[in-house]
Amino acid sequence: MKNSKEIDIAQRLIRCKSVAPKDDGALRIVEKECKSIGFKCTKLRFSEKGFDTINNLYAEIGNGKPHFSFAGHVDVVPADRKEWSVDPFSGKIKNNFLTGRGAVDMKSAIACFISAAQSYLEENKNFKGKISMMITGDEETYAWLGKKKILQWLKKKKIKINNCLVGEPTNLNVLGDQIKIGRRGGYNGIVEVHGKEGHSAWPSRTVNPVSALIKMLSNIDKKNLDKGTKHFQPSIISITSIDVGNEALNVIPARAKGSFNIRFNPLHTTKSLTKWIKKEFNKVGLKYKLETYISGNAFLTKPGNFSELIRKCVKKITKRNPKYATDGGTSDARFIHAAGISVAEFGLCGHSMHTSSEKVSLKDLKDLTKIYKLILEEYFK
Ligand SMILES: [Zn+2]
Repeated sequence: MKNSKEIDIAQRLIRCKSVAPKDDGALRIVEKECKSIGFKCTKLRFSEKGFDTINNLYAEIGNGKPHFSFAGHVDVVPADRKEWSVDPFSGKIKNNFLTGRGAVDMKSAIACFISAAQSYLEENKNFKGKISMMITGDEETYAWLGKKKILQWLKKKKIKINNCLVGEPTNLNVLGDQIKIGRRGGYNGIVEVHGKEGHSAWPSRTVNPVSALIKMLSNIDKKNLDKGTKHFQPSIISITSIDVGNEALNVIPARAKGSFNIRFNPLHTTKSLTKWIKKEFNKVGLKYKLETYISGNAFLTKPGNFSELIRKCVKKITKRNPKYATDGGTSDARFIHAAGISVAEFGLCGHSMHTSSEKVSLKDLKDLTKIYKLILEEYFK
């Protein structure tokens, strides 16, 4: 028996070793499939000094309002063959599961976008409005030359998207348990403490940056930043590294470095967090340098018509009542929200993503296609 369209596309996409910056032909497959069902495709190559060039794709069909967009990425995190029971880029199907890197995060969802759009368009040739796909080649690494740049390009072209559905794996255990309507913010800090080096037998002649660093980090470690909000878990802070690199047993070093990561809800901003961290660090009294890398502020699309429409469709197909969630890491939805587009996320089950047993059941692939098709039907009704 011939496999259905979404399974076939998902398999072919998994066979591309699309670890950013390479897309290894994955976007060509998406482009060809989109064109074959009538989408007009624009290849978007973005580059910037200090970054590799990234291939992206924008495809659209239809005219005018409303404009509904599917968003996703074809790049995947690396896969170490030794850790896998099958070749992670072979797209093997066994016991009704499709295994491979990208099977849930998120090549299969892109395959479902295309399959759903095809069957919707076959039945609704004269739909009123526009359907588009924003597919990027880099979400997993810097995410700098992907969705963010596509959105800037759309703005220049005066193309306005009203609603966007991101196909990231949002469900925890079963298809239909969660829709994401926001994401926490991500804050990474690296602090370097400056002391005065010397012989450890005469500590009074030295200023120990290691002791200071330990105090500074413990001032912020495991602090209750808040109690959470209606839609967000409490913010959390984790110390991720302490690096001194001192190989001598009897030397107090001049410098010590530490890093930490904060996942925060909308009760904080990167600015308010930096202010609090500096206040805690200053209590220790040693000179330090703080570098920060922000992956995004927290955001929330307030539950409303669009999220309710998605919920209704998920419920109808899966017979489950999905809850609205904001947990996990960050995603391209942060850029889409920042561009003023009403965005929500729904995709496959995420428990095997980024692991060496990433796989999706063929039934989930079929059901996700049905859900996406129903969303199009309800949206353009
Ligand atoms: Zn992803």
